[in-house]
Amino acid sequence: MNLNIREFSSCSDGFRNELDTLLAWDSVSDATVHTTVADIVEQVRLKGDDAVIEFTNRFDRRKVALSSELEISKEEMALAKGRVSTDLVVSLEAAAKRVYDYHVRQKQPSWQYQEDDGTVLGQKVTPLDRVGVYVPGGKAAYPSSVLMNVMPAKVAGVGEIIMVVPTPDGFVNDIVLAAAYIAGVDRVFTIGGAQAVAALAYGTETIPKVDKIVGPGNIYVATAKKMVFGVVGIDMIAGPSEILVVCDGKTDPDWIAMDLFSQAEHDEDAQSILISPDLAFIKEVRLSMERLIETQSRKNIIKASLEGRGAFIHVKDMDEAMDIANVVAAEHLELSIDEPEKWAEKIRHAGAIFMGRHTPEALGDYCAGPNHVLPTSGTARFSSPLGVYDFQKRSSMIYCSPEGASELAKIASPLARGESLEAHAMSAEYRILKGS
Ligand code: NAD
Repeated sequence: MNLNIREFSSCSDGFRNELDTLLAWDSVSDATVHTTVADIVEQVRLKGDDAVIEFTNRFDRRKVALSSELEISKEEMALAKGRVSTDLVVSLEAAAKRVYDYHVRQKQPSWQYQEDDGTVLGQKVTPLDRVGVYVPGGKAAYPSSVLMNVMPAKVAGVGEIIMVVPTPDGFVNDIVLAAAYIAGVDRVFTIGGAQAVAALAYGTETIPKVDKIVGPGNIYVATAKKMVFGVVGIDMIAGPSEILVVCDGKTDPDWIAMDLFSQAEHDEDAQSILISPDLAFIKEVRLSMERLIETQSRKNIIKASLEGRGAFIHVKDMDEAMDIANVVAAEHLELSIDEPEKWAEKIRHAGAIFMGRHTPEALGDYCAGPNHVLPTSGTARFSSPLGVYDFQKRSSMIYCSPEGASELAKIASPLARGESLEAHAMSAEYRILKGS
């Protein structure tokens, strides 16, 4: 199949404009979607379960009459796991364990230190009480998303994990429920879209109000998460998935073609880019893609994604490739090159860095251990993968000994008066020890 994928060179005039155009994406600016979601969120806030049932029946084509029909019990989750093939259960359990083991290393402890006068300062780290995990389910099922969102919450020690997943036409995916059971989700509700996000944010008669909502979803989900931020915490606003492969031309072109496909098959808006200093290699990868696409069950999505947002970029050398990778700040960056650890030192912006020819992104998506929920659309410039730290919060701790309070008050008092805050100054001054 002929693939019309754009190709450009870093030497060409207007390269930076071309790159900016390629990377441009705004995930939640659709005015019609905004209006629709605002209405859904408001209805759920005002009418609770009734609105959730109405929107679930409308958007997921269901016939729910009672809110109790929206919940899946632990027993049903266990039964679903029993219906899943042994191979798949073994893989789910192995992946869950690897993701857990990786995230254990992220857990932040509380800390404190004592000063000479007995004053103690510290930080108390506390897990969130209740978290909502959105698992997408409109067009496909994502058991891996269950593991990636739930395991760090478990490591953090979150009190209660509520999962929501839409079940279009009432079809419940056993693998998703098996993953929820293995991961240790407390309650599952079969709702999705903006109505699920609003229900978790405000709480309804049936669905408990949570402290934070995590997990990816389509534009309705992303827009709703942005709207309820402040009422609850959110992890991030995820855009379409992206991969940037940097290859020196020495990897099998079929491998690179398939790594690019593995992103493109997610959806039409996904982005796959190859950067290489080897023009002949870019041509080889193009030929591999045109041959291999015929073997792909999702070839129409792959074609649309590659032709809409994909690109080959020819650079003069590896240094320039790294500079461009830092501009792209890709969700997934594959360094399919010699000495990847040396070159990775030059990378400052990327959600996850896959090092070497034997580390395709697909392994990270499922089971390597690091989280697959990553910053997209260049947001790796300022944000990080989902992690245990997203499910922990910090409180400052201050204990002043009488001597310590007296010394601090002498610093605080002039500062308070400088701000014309009399009560602050006096509150501090009361603690100054007589004769000091
Ligand atoms: P989804 O669960 O996000 O959305 C389905 C819901 O959208 C429905 O239940 C419905 O309530 C709502 N909806 C659909 N059409 C609507 C309309 N016209 N008006 C109001 N609401 C409407 O499932 P999806 O649609 O399959 O999208 C999943 C998304 O999540 C994809 O973009 C996928 O790429 C992404 N994803 C990302 C990751 C990641 O880690 N970044 C992982 C898995 C999936």
